[in-house]
Amino acid sequence: MSRPANATIDTNAFVANYRHAKTLAPRARALAVVKANAYGHGAVALAQALGDAADAFGVACCEEAIELRESGITRPIVVLEGAFEPAELATAAALDLTLGVHSPVQLAWIEQTRLTRPLRVWVKVDTGMHRLGFDPSQLNTVWHRLTASRNVQDIVLMSHFARADEVDMPTTRRQLALFRDTVTGIAAPVSLANSAAVMAWPDSHGDWIRPGIMLYGSSPLADADPRGTALRPVMRLESQVIAIRDLAAGQEIGYGGRYVCPQPTRVGTVAIGYADGYPRHAPDGTPVAVNGVPTRLIGRVSMDMITIDLTDLPAARIGDTVQLWGDRISAAEVARYCGTIAYELFTRVTRRVHPHPV
Ligand SMILES: *Cc1c(COP(=O)(O)O)cnc(C)c1O
Repeated sequence: MSRPANATIDTNAFVANYRHAKTLAPRARALAVVKANAYGHGAVALAQALGDAADAFGVACCEEAIELRESGITRPIVVLEGAFEPAELATAAALDLTLGVHSPVQLAWIEQTRLTRPLRVWVKVDTGMHRLGFDPSQLNTVWHRLTASRNVQDIVLMSHFARADEVDMPTTRRQLALFRDTVTGIAAPVSLANSAAVMAWPDSHGDWIRPGIMLYGSSPLADADPRGTALRPVMRLESQVIAIRDLAAGQEIGYGGRYVCPQPTRVGTVAIGYADGYPRHAPDGTPVAVNGVPTRLIGRVSMDMITIDLTDLPAARIGDTVQLWGDRISAAEVARYCGTIAYELFTRVTRRVHPHPV
């Protein structure tokens, strides 16, 4: 048999999570955010699974949109960061892509390019993220220039939250209030909510929600927050036990001898490592599940292997399935052990772990 490390992608769970996002915001349409190859899950298969059920798809750049169009996706696609060079305006017009517009440079390209048909655009207002977007004081001018341009046929106004996952912070409420003040008097649909805001800030839903991470079944809110329980994990990252040995107290495991057995210890070696996207900085104690039963990583992560504690799992055998994250082990919890977020774990899964949709 070939190397057992693999990522199973549950397309039904993805569709169910999209429907769940829509039930949380029943009056809004929902942009299914599938940028970065659907957060490492495989954008084409998931977009096809959602098909006509999707109100629209969101990607970061034109390359990602082109991949979807070439695979037969005909639903609207919003390119959230818009054009990186003027030539992409013609691409957007030809492929019927909606372009984000976040800067004076992009605005000038739209005014100055000759296009065969007008573009749909999403204009970004910076309400406090301070990364992309027009200053609120500029929005009226931007609006007038865009509505005056022959190259624009349809405008949505958007902003992005910096701290929507921190449900006790006032930042989101302040960004929302500033956005409302800014768009007063402008007749255009609005879009603010990422997953955390879809789940925790119903006032922000507006006309278009933009769920990303929640579609992959991972809650951006605190692990204990009950609003995350309705989500179904989409990726199951698994491999198998390929060796087992019994070590005596005092023996060390792996590179650097990071783990020293405090007692007689049964160690399983699993065929997955940092070259597959399992984080090298995962500490001792990071949870894994063997045949569905939780245990823990011990010893440093290697390129192709990890070592886990089988002392309390005497029935474990070579060939047993080990889940790194999925339905038994939450990616958010693994991420917390590793000092990162599930978004990073998912997007770092490498080609060697062929994501296969089921
Ligand atoms: C990535 C992205 C989203 C989705 O964010 P999640 O936290 O994954 O829900 C929404 N809006 C914009 C502009 C984004 O770039």
